[in-house]
Amino acid sequence: MRYIADHDFHIHSTVSRCCHDATQTPQSILEYAQKNSFRKICLTNHFWDENVKSEAQWIEEHNFSFVSSVLPLPQDKNIRFLFGCETDMDFNNVLGVSKERFDCFDFIIVATTHLHLAGHTVSTEITTPAQAAFHWVDKLKNLLIKDLPFHKIGIAHLTTGHILKSRTTEALSLIPDAVMYDIFNECARKGAGIELNVKTINMNDDEKEILLRPYFIAKECGCRFYLGSDAHKASALAGAKENFEDVIDKLNLKESDKFLLTAGRK
Ligand SMILES: [Zn+2]
Ligand SMILES: [Zn+2]
Repeated sequence: MRYIADHDFHIHSTVSRCCHDATQTPQSILEYAQKNSFRKICLTNHFWDENVKSEAQWIEEHNFSFVSSVLPLPQDKNIRFLFGCETDMDFNNVLGVSKERFDCFDFIIVATTHLHLAGHTVSTEITTPAQAAFHWVDKLKNLLIKDLPFHKIGIAHLTTGHILKSRTTEALSLIPDAVMYDIFNECARKGAGIELNVKTINMNDDEKEILLRPYFIAKECGCRFYLGSDAHKASALAGAKENFEDVIDKLNLKESDKFLLTAGRK
């Protein structure tokens, strides 16, 4: 059975400082889910836990009182609207969620590819594909050795332009298949979800080959995938479903490839 696009687990609302669309409220996000007949959606605003010590300076407005200000989320009898977050690892690979806070979220997305945040996720600016490739691998390896509830952890946008803007494909090309197999075998073993966020519509064949390679390898390793628009505005929500369907087709995904987010918060 073909993978059904019935969810979106990576969505921002106005609580994220990088969201500049005042209409991106929980209510309008629920309406997006209704329009697309989704069964589950998850709000994942940027979060750095104020209880986690970091040598980097994180935005105060992304602490727990801000991200949790959206609660309670509006619900629909056919849709579960979950409460999650998107967090980072700082340049010392410290994760932005403390153990005590794991239970406060239904889902925790870790962005290992926010490599554009010099002084935060990486100590100095990344300027070459080789540096970007190194950190792509290094962050994932450091995430996977942590003691985390991986059944409710998602790994965000692995092929995002945040890796190295227009040279992102060059950076990803430098990572050998064998290294990716090692990483995704471990993701599969731990049960972490792999996010499908790559925009395949209108991509040329070269880009497709490079940007879909990690997902094909992850699929072969037995990883499970979830859909995540990473929408910060209404116009991004509007095109999300069409892109989900396209990437499902291109990766030939089945329902058995789906990451089932069954854990809840306490
Ligand atoms: Zn992100
Ligand atoms: Zn995001």
